[in-house]
Amino acid sequence: MKTENENPKLKEIKQLSPDAQNYSYGSCGSCGSCGSCGTGDGSSPSNCMSEDMYYKLCEQGALQSPVYVCGWGLMIPQVTEYGYYGGCGCGCGSCGSCGSCGSCGCGSCGSCGSGGEIGSGRMPQTLEEAREYINITGNNYVQDVMRGLWNEMLSLANENGRQEVGCWLFFDVKMKQYRKGTTKYGVPVSGNSHASINPGSASASENGLSGQPVSVITFIHAHTTLSHEYEDVEHICGPSKSDLDALKDGEIGIVLDYVGTFFEGKNYMFPGHSDDAPMKIYVYNNKGVLEDYDFDI
Ligand SMILES: [Zn+2]
Repeated sequence: MKTENENPKLKEIKQLSPDAQNYSYGSCGSCGSCGSCGTGDGSSPSNCMSEDMYYKLCEQGALQSPVYVCGWGLMIPQVTEYGYYGGCGCGCGSCGSCGSCGSCGCGSCGSCGSGGEIGSGRMPQTLEEAREYINITGNNYVQDVMRGLWNEMLSLANENGRQEVGCWLFFDVKMKQYRKGTTKYGVPVSGNSHASINPGSASASENGLSGQPVSVITFIHAHTTLSHEYEDVEHICGPSKSDLDALKDGEIGIVLDYVGTFFEGKNYMFPGHSDDAPMKIYVYNNKGVLEDYDFDI
């Protein structure tokens, strides 16, 4: 595999952010003609990157010039995979070319924006709209972020312990899109210990979005599974008292947790349950739960 620069574009590609460079390049295996299929940095056709890599870098805003993507050819940096551009503007983010979802007013797509149980939401145009929880929870990008946090929480849990996983969510008012901050991890605990997470600073620069025009929206975190626990430990589902107490008036938080079993006024989870037991998105303020949504991982 060639490693030296073949053309001037390669230098531009090298301007990837440090975060982007930390990704390991996986093979996509879909084109079979380039010889180094999907394993490169996208600097030339013989050094193409995988589709997954392209999407990751686009999501991060890390691409600053066109790159060669395996099976696709030269691609300009974009974020259309989430439907922020080129769609009908309904914010569902799933179709990219929709128009008749009924909530967007364009009248031609038929399937987008319907949102199911989570609610359709709208593509936020302002910071104020971006802070409405129906727009947050209805947004496909944010849902992907939530799935990522939940699945990482599950993957980190084992017989030795469990830990919460979370991140700050931001909104880029210029590009009108949500952005995920650096993933945060709670201290691993086991047995009857209470898991928690410290959100840390909400500044863009300390969450991997240095120098970008983003405003903080909320902190999202995933509570832990008890699937690997055996002791007499129980968990009340939804935001904890410390979660509520961490919010000021007017702020909201989002926690991912199981639905649990209703017993004497509260919903509980007990040790040894299945990892894929039904779970919910809980939206709360400092008084309690505002809304909860069933969520398919
Ligand atoms: Zn919590």
